[in-house]
Amino acid sequence: MARRKQIYEGKAKIIFEGPEPGTVIQYFKDDATAFNNQKKAVLEGKGVLNNRISEFVMVGLERIGVPTHFMKRLNMREQLVRHVEIVPLEVVVRNVAAGSLCKRLGLENGTVLPRSIIEFYYKDDKLGDPLVSEEHITAFNWANPQEIDDMMALALRTNDFLSGMFAAVGIKLIDFKIEFGRQYEGEMMRLIVADEISPDSCRLWDMETNDIMDKDRFRQDLGNVTDAYREVARRLGVLRENESAGQSGPVLVSDNGE
Ligand code: UDP
Repeated sequence: MARRKQIYEGKAKIIFEGPEPGTVIQYFKDDATAFNNQKKAVLEGKGVLNNRISEFVMVGLERIGVPTHFMKRLNMREQLVRHVEIVPLEVVVRNVAAGSLCKRLGLENGTVLPRSIIEFYYKDDKLGDPLVSEEHITAFNWANPQEIDDMMALALRTNDFLSGMFAAVGIKLIDFKIEFGRQYEGEMMRLIVADEISPDSCRLWDMETNDIMDKDRFRQDLGNVTDAYREVARRLGVLRENESAGQSGPVLVSDNGE
């Protein structure tokens, strides 16, 4: 079988040409990076877990009417997704203060915020993804005012869905990052949730113990990173009890999502 054409390689994923126009294949690597690429590691099994968790989340979002790029999972590490033009912004929603918000505003880690806060960061690794305002976004044409409104509304619906979904399995959603893509259909364009939603892009704390179950385990050298991701997957019911997500060998392609 001929190797598919690679379109793009990012830090944690590779995008390949899809089988039909308007589709691409998203491949989840085991690579982990933090602090703008200064810290790197290979975490065996991470890609498999994020593929499954992101599938689960995107399917759930579609069910409540939030459009996403997800079409179907192809195998352990790959999913078929809609081809989009990525909006060059990272949209962060925060419920509890952590990470850069604490540093920037001097808040104590874990402070419950008076309401959910949305922030935009300009996607540019060379600049370290700076925080930007709506003024910057519209002045530099990264998105127009209508798109900003749409992204904020979709981000809040995503936050409500994710908060409930995780709370139901004893996990607090502290914050998360999502990306949006423009999907063109003839004259029409719509914004849909793209990229991934996984413990790489969310802060997740155990409801009872506040144990960290996300990429901060890697950022802060807490160890057992994939164990924590596997526990998130297990609680969500994404992994069957006897299923190993640590396999990195050849994978079977199946078309029924199992
Ligand atoms: N985040 C992400 N990718 C980034 C930056 C942040 O997925 O490039 C996520 C991060 O995991 C957290 C949320 O966005 O869930 C808010 O991150 P923050 O701004 O606090 O940045 P950090 O402290 O992670 O640098």
